[in-house]
Amino acid sequence: MPGGLPAQSLKAEAAPSEVKGVREVLEESGPEIDWDSLTFSFTETDRMYIAYCKQGEEWQPGSMQDFQNLSISPAAGVINYGQGLFEGMKAQHAADGSIVLFRPQDNARRSREGARRLGMPPVPEKMFLDAIKKTVSENSRWVPPMGKGALYVRPLIFGSGAILGVAPAPEYTFLVYVSPVGPYFKGGITPTSLRVSDEFHRAAPGGSGGVKAIGNYAPGMVPSQMAKKEGYSEIIYLDAVNHRYIEEVGAANFFCVKDRVISTPELTGTILPGVTRSSVMELAKSKGYEVIEEKVDVDYALEADECFCVGTAAVISSIGRIEHGTKVVEYCGGDVGPVALELYETLTSIQQRRSPDEFGWTMSVE
Ligand SMILES: *Cc1c(COP(=O)(O)O)cnc(C)c1O
Repeated sequence: MPGGLPAQSLKAEAAPSEVKGVREVLEESGPEIDWDSLTFSFTETDRMYIAYCKQGEEWQPGSMQDFQNLSISPAAGVINYGQGLFEGMKAQHAADGSIVLFRPQDNARRSREGARRLGMPPVPEKMFLDAIKKTVSENSRWVPPMGKGALYVRPLIFGSGAILGVAPAPEYTFLVYVSPVGPYFKGGITPTSLRVSDEFHRAAPGGSGGVKAIGNYAPGMVPSQMAKKEGYSEIIYLDAVNHRYIEEVGAANFFCVKDRVISTPELTGTILPGVTRSSVMELAKSKGYEVIEEKVDVDYALEADECFCVGTAAVISSIGRIEHGTKVVEYCGGDVGPVALELYETLTSIQQRRSPDEFGWTMSVE
């Protein structure tokens, strides 16, 4: 393993993929990639980054290798006790011809905070950024043309060492892989229909809702599927104490606008501090909006002029309708809200360097 620590418990092995992935199909059909057929789903790419760290020691230098399956101990901390976290960001082709990342330092910081909460060694910022840039650069043929989507970057940090009792694993893995994704909403933003859940919660005070812990996501899958079966795109989670304040929309942050004042749930530890959330707040302030982080009562949101949710995947998604119990509210006649649209245009044009990056949010990958 060049430059890396030969780990006992986890090593990558070349394993033939059973399913004929887009990669094989593309290789057979030549170098042309049909960008228009990309959806927001996983496509295998060429290369990935991997590094190891023993509990109580420093991270060893990582290395790039071909994308391949992992070999892992059945007693690994991550598959027994969910000791792991993920990150997510996009690399895109920008108007100046470069490939750019959006605020990757914020993902690096969030991963360090999450690692500490989960008893894992934090990955230093420089190592995190180097890993991301290398992975994007060695998969650059997979970055879609501007406007056709993005290369989704997925860093993982997890307990790969074997441990039987419930305790931090003796060894950790930091891995970065990428997948090209099409635009979240093909054919422009379409307003979504959401349902407020009175039955399920995403996070509780003192828990792990504020970090991207892998264990936070499986419990939301069934509630989300149930809502989808009934025609909703996602569910809105309320706080677990008062069952009254909006927390998040699936895995995205919530905003509402009333009389030109923009409100978003304050970060109390149960809400994931989104990079898109903080960018939207800063942008809105720079445009002269009043932006307030506060407890957002579901009844206040139901009387708002406009609601939207934000996250890396969709950037900004306008909410057309919310159902809560017997109440159903439609916003902006079911059309895309004007504030969501304005912020979406501004944010995506900064991300793609179609307008000046006055905040210094983009970072080039050579
Ligand atoms: C990742 C995530 C978000 C959005 O964060 P971004 O950094 O904007 O992508 C919001 N909520 C949850 C629960 C998340 O996991």
